Amino acid sequence: MASSVQDQLAKPLFAPLQREFCSYCGYPPVRRSRGDAARVCNRCNLGMVLRTAAHSVPRQDALFLIVNQNLLVQGVSRGAEAVLLVDEPDAVNTPLAELLTPGNGNASWGDLAELITLAVAEQPSDARIDLRTADHPLVWFAGRVSSCGLPPAALVLLTPLRTRALRSVGAA
Ligand SMILES: [Zn+2]
Repeated sequence: MASSVQDQLAKPLFAPLQREFCSYCGYPPVRRSRGDAARVCNRCNLGMVLRTAAHSVPRQDALFLIVNQNLLVQGVSRGAEAVLLVDEPDAVNTPLAELLTPGNGNASWGDLAELITLAVAEQPSDARIDLRTADHPLVWFAGRVSSCGLPPAALVLLTPLRTRALRSVGAA
């Protein structure tokens, strides 16, 4: 019937296109059969399969964190582990402030908390925020906060900008 074709065409308009990714390696899960919905990534066997909007899905081996509404870390990608000097299992339920802090200048914890609250409520902002590692060595990032789930959480994508400590160590 014509109406069922129209219904199918209308679906993408009402449900934003979602993509699955692994909370650890960032890869999409391997589908072995239709309806085969793995909860644990079947590539690395370590991360959880999460969903996000197609335009927010991280690249493989990207640097990102999964953060809940209480600003507690729920996941650290393999790429972020190396830069933030943490191991994923140990970092779970760590306050975000122990790993990252807003960069100098116009960004504050209130801004970061607001971006995370909006993302967890599935109303992410397009705003970028400067972030840096909370500890040495200092690494600066451009941060973007998107929604992901389930359960609802914030996906904090990190693009490294520069490393400050390396320059001073090299000059010593
Ligand atoms: Zn994985």
